[in-house]
Amino acid sequence: MKSINTTGQVIRRGEPGFEEAVLGTSFTVRDPGRRPDIVVQAHDVFEVISAVKQAAKDGMRVGMCSGGHSWAQNHIRDGGLMLDLSRLKGIEINTSNNTAVIGPGVLAGELNAAVVKHQLFFPVAHAYTVGMGGFLLQGGFGWNSRHLGMGCQNVIGLDVVLADGSLVHASETEHPDLFWSARGAGPGFFGVVVRFHLQLHKRARFIGLKTQVFRIQHLESVMRWADQVGPQVSPLVEFQIVMNPKALLINAHGMEVIAPVMADSWSEARELVDFMTHSPVRHLSSLHLPLVPMSLEFMMKTGEKTLFLSNTRWSADNMWMNDPIEPLLPSLRKIADSQPPHPSHVLWLNWNAPANRPDMAFSQEHRTYLALYCGLGKGVDEAPHVNWATDHMKALEPWSKGIQLADENLAKRPAKFVSDANMVRLNQARAKYDPQGRFHPWMGQLPAQPQ
Ligand SMILES: Cc1cc2nc3c(=O)[nH]c(=O)nc-3n(C[C@H](O)[C@H](O)[C@H](O)COP(=O)(O)OP(=O)(O)OC[C@H]3O[C@@H](n4cnc5c(N)ncnc54)[C@H](O)[C@@H]3O)c2cc1C
Repeated sequence: MKSINTTGQVIRRGEPGFEEAVLGTSFTVRDPGRRPDIVVQAHDVFEVISAVKQAAKDGMRVGMCSGGHSWAQNHIRDGGLMLDLSRLKGIEINTSNNTAVIGPGVLAGELNAAVVKHQLFFPVAHAYTVGMGGFLLQGGFGWNSRHLGMGCQNVIGLDVVLADGSLVHASETEHPDLFWSARGAGPGFFGVVVRFHLQLHKRARFIGLKTQVFRIQHLESVMRWADQVGPQVSPLVEFQIVMNPKALLINAHGMEVIAPVMADSWSEARELVDFMTHSPVRHLSSLHLPLVPMSLEFMMKTGEKTLFLSNTRWSADNMWMNDPIEPLLPSLRKIADSQPPHPSHVLWLNWNAPANRPDMAFSQEHRTYLALYCGLGKGVDEAPHVNWATDHMKALEPWSKGIQLADENLAKRPAKFVSDANMVRLNQARAKYDPQGRFHPWMGQLPAQPQ
């Protein structure tokens, strides 16, 4: 590459600081072995535009990175230009119409901290340090998303730098096909989002958490109960089960049954989690905590201190399910029996999506969700665990209804992530907005493309 007309930091392969500029972006500390040719650390929209224009001139592919939290490290690609957007951090809140305009480098926790001052709310990701850029593009299963909708559903506009370097605004009325695509295309989006325009919500008066912990020997009983009661659980409750080799307070292999709840009052919240208080499996629990009021920030930070540890080599895979849990129980037992050490964990999530969503690329969700997160700390040998998540998900494919892009593992296991009809529309929009393939598509071999 000749020169980039930008004041952004430009670091080429082989130059001092290059390795740190690439690998330092990533939440998972695994080295993917891939390297771009050049990294541009942009500080504003103009630097983004000039980097994309220069890449177009030089015939280089462009990849984007906001918060670097892709489990698969989709943001680190081989060759081309890596555009690091983590410094685009503006947050403007308009309290007259409860909207916000943010940069893609804003972290989930930073946005939450900014809106809480106005008693407002956005369904941000569950961990503090997730980048809003990638989170909002892939769907965005945020706090209270069962009630308020996916993060992307609450995107009302985007400012996007296209493949030719032009800056456009996309919304329901301007470039509607680009807007439609950005709400769900995830790591295959074909433009650089430099600003997201968001709809904010009134903050719930009560936010709290109900927890029970069971030893892993009760896996089958607990899962049967959870699967059966799930459809009746209010959308104000994020009912989930985490299989954790070091479960909360018992410090042994167990299942944390967790129910964050957001309601108008403590008494309403207590009623909403009554299904746990009076559950038929409660007598099996090793620990039963009352509903405790808790700030979102505390929950986000605690999650990162106890489960989503940094300095860890992570890999993940996932699937949507519709069928009752019974035939899957032997597989869940195998998953538990082979579970790598803490902080590796398994998430079962009661989703039961609403009947309708706005028309957007995001189009795949089902009754329940299962994700495997393999997290290996320093010194833990990778060899026995490296394919744990992928192999178990492969074995469960007969029950899979496809995957979420949030926890995608497409490079290792191709799977369907939007409806067939939406894949066709996404391909058409990509051909229109990025005819020369300037932007990297999803990693790996995609499932057979519908015509
Ligand atoms: C600890 C942890 C907790 C998580 N919790 C949740 C959760 O609660 N809910 C949920 O839904 N997901 C969650 N995720 C998944 C996360 O939302 C996705 O991995 C998301 O892509 C991360 O966004 P990022 O900007 O940090 O990632 P990056 O790795 O920077 O981006 C991922 C990909 O998105 C694209 N992209 C990013 N920014 C832009 C941009 N500005 N313009 C165009 N394309 C862009 C690029 O293709 C990039 O490769 C979590 C991940 C981790 C590691």
